[in-house]
Amino acid sequence: MTHEPPAAPSTRSLRPRRVVTDRRGGRSSSPYDAFNLGDHVGDAPADVAANRERLARELRVDPGALVWMQQVHGTGVAVVDGPQAGSPPQVDALVTATPGLVLCVLVADCVPVLLADPVAGVVAAVHAGREGVRQGVVTAALAAMADLGARPRDVQALLGPAVCGADYEVPRAMQVQVARVARDAAVRSRTGTPALDLRAGLTQVLRAAGVGQVVQDPRCTVEDRRLFSHRRDGVTGRQAGVVWLEPA
Ligand SMILES: [Zn+2]
Repeated sequence: MTHEPPAAPSTRSLRPRRVVTDRRGGRSSSPYDAFNLGDHVGDAPADVAANRERLARELRVDPGALVWMQQVHGTGVAVVDGPQAGSPPQVDALVTATPGLVLCVLVADCVPVLLADPVAGVVAAVHAGREGVRQGVVTAALAAMADLGARPRDVQALLGPAVCGADYEVPRAMQVQVARVARDAAVRSRTGTPALDLRAGLTQVLRAAGVGQVVQDPRCTVEDRRLFSHRRDGVTGRQAGVVWLEPA
């Protein structure tokens, strides 16, 4: 028997919005130039704060509506239903059914996964690096979304810019660990050595979970200098993947 969660007619007019930022337009100095949104990478706090205010302005949302996390490469999920107070939670996924709360994930090679169920009115922002993929952070986020009424077939997934497989050489043992969870992640680098295509792996995981739509931003953070890349530059800033339910 299947259990059909009750429909939520009051949320049917909500529109999921998804945005990925890049380096351009911010206030930060080198090596964080210019639109760094990460407050944990050594950049001047006043510049990060100004950049976050600019993000809110450009999205036409209240700066207090932005919700951040302290990402720890795990599978923790925080379900939020109001503006953030105090320190951001130490998790790698944020989930909400509250319109107007703007969920932000910070990245510079890891995959920003933006999930939205427009029928149930539930969204999630997920930080999926190698460890997150191996440990199943996206599966954890989908489970938390389901608790709020989301159904996989109604979920639309956007995999934002990240390091591509050709540029993500890893030791073979590490490749094997990730491939146990997502076989499609195992690829070869430009030079033919073992590598990981995290977005290929995540696409496989999402499809296996029944997610109806998976779309990939093709940009590679290492190759595209308009994007922050930790692998290319070491000390650098972070771009953000952002998702929210816009009240109609
Ligand atoms: Zn690449």
